[in-house]
Amino acid sequence: MLAYTYKTKGTFKLEEKPVPEILSSTDAIVRVTLSSICTSDLHIKHGSVPRAVPGITVGHEMVGVVEKVGAAVTNVAPGDRVTVNVETFCGECFFCRNGWVNNCEDENGGWALGCRIDGGQAEYVRVPLANQGLNRIPDSVTDRQALFVGDVLATGYWAAKISDIKEQDTVLIIGAGPTGICTLLCVMLKNPAKIIVCETDAGRRKFVKEHYPQVEVVDPQAADVERYVKSITPHGGADVVLEVAGTEATFQMAWKCARPNAVVTVVALYDGPQTLPLPDMYGKNLTFKFGGVDGCDCGEILSLIAEGKIDTTPLITHTFKLREIEAAYELFENRRDGVIKVAVEP
Ligand SMILES: [Zn+2]
Ligand SMILES: [Zn+2]
Repeated sequence: MLAYTYKTKGTFKLEEKPVPEILSSTDAIVRVTLSSICTSDLHIKHGSVPRAVPGITVGHEMVGVVEKVGAAVTNVAPGDRVTVNVETFCGECFFCRNGWVNNCEDENGGWALGCRIDGGQAEYVRVPLANQGLNRIPDSVTDRQALFVGDVLATGYWAAKISDIKEQDTVLIIGAGPTGICTLLCVMLKNPAKIIVCETDAGRRKFVKEHYPQVEVVDPQAADVERYVKSITPHGGADVVLEVAGTEATFQMAWKCARPNAVVTVVALYDGPQTLPLPDMYGKNLTFKFGGVDGCDCGEILSLIAEGKIDTTPLITHTFKLREIEAAYELFENRRDGVIKVAVEP
């Protein structure tokens, strides 16, 4: 089968590999029907994910059809259409029992697929601990509608869930890349009074304005975002801030735009350490939340998609064949042609 493979720092290559086999009774083999490229794949390519293992097939956003299951797999059966979770988790350890599946104590726990073990930018993928890692896609939901459930949409859902958003709130979302837009979609489910999206890229601002006209969009290059947010909110800042951009400037903007006693949720992954100027922040009594997604709400997300409450299909701006995946990476990495997300077909 064809598999897009992490060779060395800076190099991915489309290679022929054997179709994966069941290795453990809790495994499933999934025939990939649609996959995507995530910014984390680019982080692997550029060597900024030290635990990524050279030789592995990359890709951790995919949907497919179950081909084979091990004897202990009971949640799904061959023939089922499924979403694949970016995280591998056992469901039984201390962390899993608390819903903190990102910190699962299993040896493959956390983000393993397409990082430490073979992932899904391929024709087939082996999914360990398949009872937890696979969710059946409702018949009324298409592959394209379900494509982001296991990773980027799970992240947006988790971010909105942990941010304690109330209906009277003003919510500021910094960054309107794929994760920022998924976060926006999930914040909208909480019905806050006002949502402001801050984004530097004109194409992404246009995308948000076109698809979500009820949301206010600001350009930090044209306006002093801190002053603006403080001027339109009754208590000196946003009630909730979600930082989904990942730069030094946006990290500082996040806490500065928050009102006293606000929640600041950091979804972004940074290239380096960030500074918390505690003397300046003293008395603001902020609550910071941050970390990697606990991707254990995929069933709930799929129900919301089936009910028409979340639709991420507009994010799929381009579609490629697996044999053209190099071109898909080139487009995605260089953000050409208004790309938000790409879909990769076998
Ligand atoms: Zn990802
Ligand atoms: Zn666990």
